[in-house]
Amino acid sequence: MRFETAGRDGHARAGKLTLNHGIVETPVFMPVGTNGAIKMCSRECVKDAGAQIVLANAFHLYLKPGLEVLRSFGGIHNFASWDIPILTDSGGFQVFSLSKNMRVDDEGVDFKSPFDGSIHKFTPEKVVEIQEAIGSDIAMVLDECLAPGNDLESTKKSVRRTGQWARRALSSHEKQDQSLFGITQGGFFEDLRKESTLEITSMPFDGFGIGGLSVGEDIDTTIRMLDVALPLMPQDKPRYLMGVGDPVLMLEAIERGVDMMDCVLPTRMGRHGGILTSSGRLNIRASVYEKDPGPLDSECDCKVCKTYSRGYIRHLIKRGESTGMILATYHNIYFLTNLMKQSRNAIIKGEFDEFKKHVIEKTNHKKR
Ligand SMILES: [Zn+2]
Repeated sequence: MRFETAGRDGHARAGKLTLNHGIVETPVFMPVGTNGAIKMCSRECVKDAGAQIVLANAFHLYLKPGLEVLRSFGGIHNFASWDIPILTDSGGFQVFSLSKNMRVDDEGVDFKSPFDGSIHKFTPEKVVEIQEAIGSDIAMVLDECLAPGNDLESTKKSVRRTGQWARRALSSHEKQDQSLFGITQGGFFEDLRKESTLEITSMPFDGFGIGGLSVGEDIDTTIRMLDVALPLMPQDKPRYLMGVGDPVLMLEAIERGVDMMDCVLPTRMGRHGGILTSSGRLNIRASVYEKDPGPLDSECDCKVCKTYSRGYIRHLIKRGESTGMILATYHNIYFLTNLMKQSRNAIIKGEFDEFKKHVIEKTNHKKR
């Protein structure tokens, strides 16, 4: 993996990430394909909507179809006929979300499969092995994801454990053509954020995730934590803010030096009629759009906005037609990949601050 910076504006970076399956220009939004597919968007659709890299989930792929099937195909790229870079998350977030059906100690996490109740164990080494079998371009280490609202003591413990697990993941990773990213934690405690960021970034990972944010806290808290973590992170490696897909927060993160982001929200929202637009989010199911002949977003030049009306897409979504969900999903992915492209251009031109202000002003002032 190579990471070069093509331009800077303040702390914001326009980067170029060279991975096994292609080049990714940053800042970048990564749509989430949990089971090895983006819901309501085929590979062709995802690429057409401007995605350069997608996210797949190690937890789900490990349980189904399982490593044996993935190994028999030589990995996810062959299995799913994907030819663009793929990042796999470690599955830690999903395992820790099982709450009552998991148990954690220093060795790893035992959990019950939500599919058939079978018992499994994730250790830092096992999670590396799973992602090596999946063959993603970027693998993430297993970290301890605490539920929001945890106290100082348990967050301290999780920072210590996350550090130990990161070291174990590093020493068990063998796949040369796969990058491995560490994950920084620390909850909403500034000192612990600092401690975790310094510890994890002192290890020779290819890049770094910022974990445990955007889990229900307010945007000011997220930004405060970014302000603690980002200045401590190395300049020459990519920084990945995990689980963020809100346009305003994405711009705030880019301004502070974040390069990569992912979120299920734009695709999940799209399937239910939630549309991202340049003047804020709208719900296409609302009756006000019943006879609206205009596009989903009058400032969007995607093929859905060039062709279809709000009234028609509203009708399809209300009827549960998958075509409606496909069109809305496409637009939402396009909207975010385009926002990232525009951010990159603004950074290269040294105009990111004006660009960000302009976008946020429009979003806030014309909320529907
Ligand atoms: Zn559009």
